[in-house]
Amino acid sequence: MGFVKWANLLLIFHFFAATPIFSHSSSFTSKFLDLAKEPKIFDWMVNIRRKIHENPELGYEEFKTSELITSELTKLSIPYKYPVAVTGVVGFIGTGSSPFVALRADMDALPIQELVEWEHKSKVAGKMHACGHDAHVAMLLGAAKILKAHEKEILGTVVLVFQPAEEGGGGAQKIIDSGALENVSAIFGLHVHPNEPVGVVATRSGPLATGSSFFEAIISGKGGHAAIPQYAIDPIVATSNIIISLQHILSREVDPLDPQVLTIGKFQGGETANVIPDSVLIAGTFRAFSRESMMYLKQRIEQVIIGQAAVHKCNATVTFLNGDKPYSPPTINNYDLHEYFKSVVGNMLGANKIKKAQLLMGSEDFALFQEAIPGYIFFLGMENKSVEQLPSAHSPYFKVNEDALPYGAAIHASLASNYLIKLHQDQPLVEDKYNDEL
Ligand SMILES: [Zn+2]
Ligand SMILES: [Zn+2]
Repeated sequence: MGFVKWANLLLIFHFFAATPIFSHSSSFTSKFLDLAKEPKIFDWMVNIRRKIHENPELGYEEFKTSELITSELTKLSIPYKYPVAVTGVVGFIGTGSSPFVALRADMDALPIQELVEWEHKSKVAGKMHACGHDAHVAMLLGAAKILKAHEKEILGTVVLVFQPAEEGGGGAQKIIDSGALENVSAIFGLHVHPNEPVGVVATRSGPLATGSSFFEAIISGKGGHAAIPQYAIDPIVATSNIIISLQHILSREVDPLDPQVLTIGKFQGGETANVIPDSVLIAGTFRAFSRESMMYLKQRIEQVIIGQAAVHKCNATVTFLNGDKPYSPPTINNYDLHEYFKSVVGNMLGANKIKKAQLLMGSEDFALFQEAIPGYIFFLGMENKSVEQLPSAHSPYFKVNEDALPYGAAIHASLASNYLIKLHQDQPLVEDKYNDEL
């Protein structure tokens, strides 16, 4: 047989070898949703979600939540690492070798008193899962159960990331610092959305949510009698001008087509009406959709506060906070992953179920993952208008429509399993390097 015939034969072999894997996978992917709706997975997820809802835990205190996760992973014979990032859990399904793809669920609750009266109301006073992270954990476990049942068909390893402290605690950064994402090619996440219907996802390529940063400033003058201001240096008047000047950054310096926010939420100074105080404390936050805009605002906030303080013969110090409220970069969805997401989820739900998400002025610490590796996050609809209108996230009346759980689990499972197939097809691996870090 001549070379050309061999080459043809190899091409034919490659075609038949590659195609069935993908089409087979696509067909089992479309079955993932049916599987996730079956009582053995649906009821199981609902039960897990309700247990977590009854026992909400704040960032880095998710001990019972992680105990529940590790016990379910153990029952499913899924190996895991714990603790990661204080209270996080990282599980593994598949070959244990590269390529690696990650799925993320956040685990923390909020310091809110639940006002919904129902059988599975929070049992902890002042704490509540008011952002749906209880559902996120249940859906990732649902995906884990589905993927485990198809483990032999997984062409690599799915890394399950149960992340603590999303609500301003920087849990994502601690996961990255733990090395859990080394050698991981991409990460996917989702967030429940109370105002999109069940069976619909909302998403977009590029910027999705703002970055956020917090700051404090102390403006120091010289206290004195209110009736003889010429002997004092008044920090109240100085700070009033500072706040007005800060707003001018937004109205006069930044592109009106690049939405940005700067809010002073705290102004503390003085004790009484007839005394000029020594100093004033202000604190605020700023938001923008690009790292460049965030950096520009940061630089100008400091300049304006110090400069305006000097105009009024005051001194000022500005501190950008890192502890309780660390900097969160803008959430920016990777373009290639957006195209990939549309093909996989369009295949499962229909292209008309993928809606363009509105830009969000809130922030999501999934953005930190996206700074480290290609990442993609989307909103999962859970509204059923014929039943009720759902309150927004962080409301004490927040509710999860559990009918959305199978969609999240099935989409997670499909995104991960098909991504590994895509990696094999795009780039046949020459070496099969074990990820020691995992
Ligand atoms: Zn939240
Ligand atoms: Zn959230």
